[in-house]
Amino acid sequence: MTKQDALKKYFGYETFYPLQAEIIDHALAGKHALVLMPTGGGKSVCFQIPALIMDGTAIVISPLIALMKDQVDGLTANGIPAAFLNSALAEEESAAVIRQCLKGDIKLLYISPERLGAASTIGFLQKLRISLFAVDEAHCISSWGHDFRPDYLKLHVLREKFPTVPLIALTATADRVIRKDILRQLDIPEEHQFIASFDRPNLSLTVYSGQKRLEQILRFLSKRKNQPGIIYCLSRKTTENVASRLQDRGYRAAYYHAGMANDERSKVQDAFIRDKIQIICATIAFGLGIDKSNIRWIIHYSLPKNIESYYQEIGRAGRDGAPADTVLFYSYADVKTHHEMLKDLPQDRQELLSAKLDRMKRYAEADICRRRILLSYFNEQPSGDCGNCDVCKNPPKKFNGTIIAQKALSAIARTGEKINMTTLIQILRGSHNMFIRENGYDQIKTFGVGRDIKYSEWAEYIFQLLNSGFVDIAYDEGYALKLNDLSRKILKAEMEVLLTEPMALEKKLETVAALPKKQVVADGLFEKLRALRRTLADENNVPAYVVFSDRTLLEMTDMCPRDEIEMLGVSGVGEHKMKQYGKIFLAEIRRYIHEEAKRVSK
Ligand code: ADP
Ligand code: ZN
Repeated sequence: MTKQDALKKYFGYETFYPLQAEIIDHALAGKHALVLMPTGGGKSVCFQIPALIMDGTAIVISPLIALMKDQVDGLTANGIPAAFLNSALAEEESAAVIRQCLKGDIKLLYISPERLGAASTIGFLQKLRISLFAVDEAHCISSWGHDFRPDYLKLHVLREKFPTVPLIALTATADRVIRKDILRQLDIPEEHQFIASFDRPNLSLTVYSGQKRLEQILRFLSKRKNQPGIIYCLSRKTTENVASRLQDRGYRAAYYHAGMANDERSKVQDAFIRDKIQIICATIAFGLGIDKSNIRWIIHYSLPKNIESYYQEIGRAGRDGAPADTVLFYSYADVKTHHEMLKDLPQDRQELLSAKLDRMKRYAEADICRRRILLSYFNEQPSGDCGNCDVCKNPPKKFNGTIIAQKALSAIARTGEKINMTTLIQILRGSHNMFIRENGYDQIKTFGVGRDIKYSEWAEYIFQLLNSGFVDIAYDEGYALKLNDLSRKILKAEMEVLLTEPMALEKKLETVAALPKKQVVADGLFEKLRALRRTLADENNVPAYVVFSDRTLLEMTDMCPRDEIEMLGVSGVGEHKMKQYGKIFLAEIRRYIHEEAKRVSK
């Protein structure tokens, strides 16, 4: 069997993703490798196909016990004999798996790192014919990374006890330091690294300003019925609040954070994987390697702490290759919160982390193609503007905003730098309320000079002034706005201010909704196929995407295959799935076409 045949027969795909073919050949030649690919880049195929072609059993080390069953279910659904060994198995279940392996019936065996550390495991492995080792989430081996797992340190025994078995380490996050650590610990030659492009063109990138976040989220969600997604928040409290507000609006939402009991967390995760819950509000603890390919959107409720985390988190959307949306809410206050969290760290650590934070902030404030910024951060040269970020879709329009800035700054000066943004806007717009009158703010010269500008637009401009450092904010004085050297220059007309025209929220939401390519729409046939997939998944007790991915359903919707041959031409329909589900889906498509024809002729 060639690797091409295996890709078609077992996975139903026609062509390899970038680097997959090279990595497979490399493994088949018996060589070790370190594979760095973005989430959704198709890492699994890189070791699963060699495992299928080679004699014996491949051993996959994966830190995510909760995922193992789904991964094994996914392989089984494609007709690949696979099993797992971890602490979640009962004694007799383990014994059965071990027997199957010894008989040579298993092509891929997933093992947790804890289990690998147990004394008996190495002895058991020595009795097997092992084709290769795959170390998933390999960055867990490095204490420089954020997911360090001490159990991973023991992995070097694999190289000592099985020196001739090829080992493939795979990860989606590894800077140079971590990569070096992996290579050293697993004794992989430096020239055996495969680094794929980090570009994920199917992910749209949008940054919204952080005002009225919940309102914005609700509007975003109203266009995404039943589409699974994650809202990342900075604090546990926020995850709970946001989830409960969404529940109040009738959404199937839940929260997830490190403060919950383990079983409660796995319940939530499981419900999400199985599409029982549409929305998870989570701290970053959620989603490490979560293997759900149909996540259609990611929202960052606040600014992430660095670009690496941000990219990893948005990378969880659209792993099936179908379009997915990502939205980041940004306000200056988030930057401040992050700085607060850093202030007790040692000096050098603090400097490093604030430098990273600063890159993140500049990304959020950018007015050039956002994907360019991300890719150049990962040392890639983008070939052009992406056309799928908010800046590309709606290039910001700048205008001379010096007078607007002067009005605001002068009001701050005349009120003794004591007022916050709300009061400032009220003064500028000439609102007569008690607070204003009591403080005599309606007597100052700038009262009402900004009536022609809407409240929300003033807020937007003041945020821009803050973000550009033209005015400061004292969080410890009730968010009072303070003048600085630049403010005074602007007031003296020694400096010009460029402002960006605020785009109506409506318009911005439209640009996110309107994707140039195929969107996962609530199209009639698509919904029918999705419901069918749900039923079959429940019957077989597997997550929906194990039956077929969103991308595969979309292709069926597009191509409307009429027979088995055409069905096998749909990406994601392999031989095994054709046997298991092909007929049922063909029948559903036929029924739909028939009903549509009847409806049209009426
Ligand atoms: P990663 O582990 O790198 O995040 P996966 O291995 O889970 O990525 O693959 C992501 C998705 O892409 C899965 O749904 C997988 O079946 C699919 N996939 C992998 N390789 C291909 C390919 N060559 N063509 C089409 N889809 C692929
Ligand atoms: Zn762009």
